[in-house]
Amino acid sequence: MLAYQHAYHAGNVADVHKHVTLNALLARLHGKASAITCVDTHAGRGIYPLDAQETQRGGEYITGVMPLWEQRQKLAERSPVLKEWLDDLATLNPNGTLSCYPGSPWWFGHTLRDQDTLALFELHPGEVKHLEEAREALPHNVRVTYGDGPETLLDQLPFPTPRLCVLIDPSYEIKSEYAQMADVLAATAYKVRHAIVAIWYPLLPENRHQALLEGIVDYDVRKVWRSELIFRDPSAGRGMYGSGLVIMNPPWQLDSILNDAFGIIAACYGEQASHRSGWLVEE
Ligand code: SAM
Repeated sequence: MLAYQHAYHAGNVADVHKHVTLNALLARLHGKASAITCVDTHAGRGIYPLDAQETQRGGEYITGVMPLWEQRQKLAERSPVLKEWLDDLATLNPNGTLSCYPGSPWWFGHTLRDQDTLALFELHPGEVKHLEEAREALPHNVRVTYGDGPETLLDQLPFPTPRLCVLIDPSYEIKSEYAQMADVLAATAYKVRHAIVAIWYPLLPENRHQALLEGIVDYDVRKVWRSELIFRDPSAGRGMYGSGLVIMNPPWQLDSILNDAFGIIAACYGEQASHRSGWLVEE
């Protein structure tokens, strides 16, 4: 039985890291007209009202998206990527108060073009009900599937579109998921060589993400970029101290664009915060 519910964490630093990346990645992909299949293997609810009881309990958005929202004018002047992301966020919060934070289905869905499709997979029965409701506000070419995300992705590969963009964002409730996601990345690359696949992982003192990174390196995949946003001193306590992403086949210049954006974001999170990146596997 799945216990994790993303509403407890909505709008935290990891969401900022993931969704700024996703928005910038999709903007680059939209530079070409050819159709894209987008897949969100662990979709969650889709939309998170910040006054919900679950979200208020941890209040993680207060140290995640909120400092950036409050400085949005200044940030928009400094970074086109952040301007775009904050402007998009403002379309959901038009009166200037941040009352709602969107999850990955919305970040994928709000810019979906007619020629593209978006497949949302979710295994938690309660979350899937919310997701079905959130889907109603998204374009017609978005479909929700209740089931195991990685399994459904591998069953459906390859897709008929020339391009494929996948976000894999597990809750890692089961420790073997780290190594399993490396298998999923490699199996996707085997069937669709040019696939763009982003995998999110938490940075924990236990370093469990090493199983994911070592797994990827052991496979014969190429061009995997890694980005890590650290928001507190790793030795200063238990729990997540940072957010990590690996991206296979990132579009040209995405690495430098994101380096600039996350350098600026880290500075908003105080002296203990930093961003590091580099090629996990070169071309
Ligand atoms: N991607 C979402 C976002 O950025 O807004 C957040 C996803 S949350 C970190 C992980 C989600 O995966 C949870 O909603 C959980 O119920 C779901 N989940 C867990 N195991 C799954 C599986 N095997 N297949 C599909 N969904 C799963």
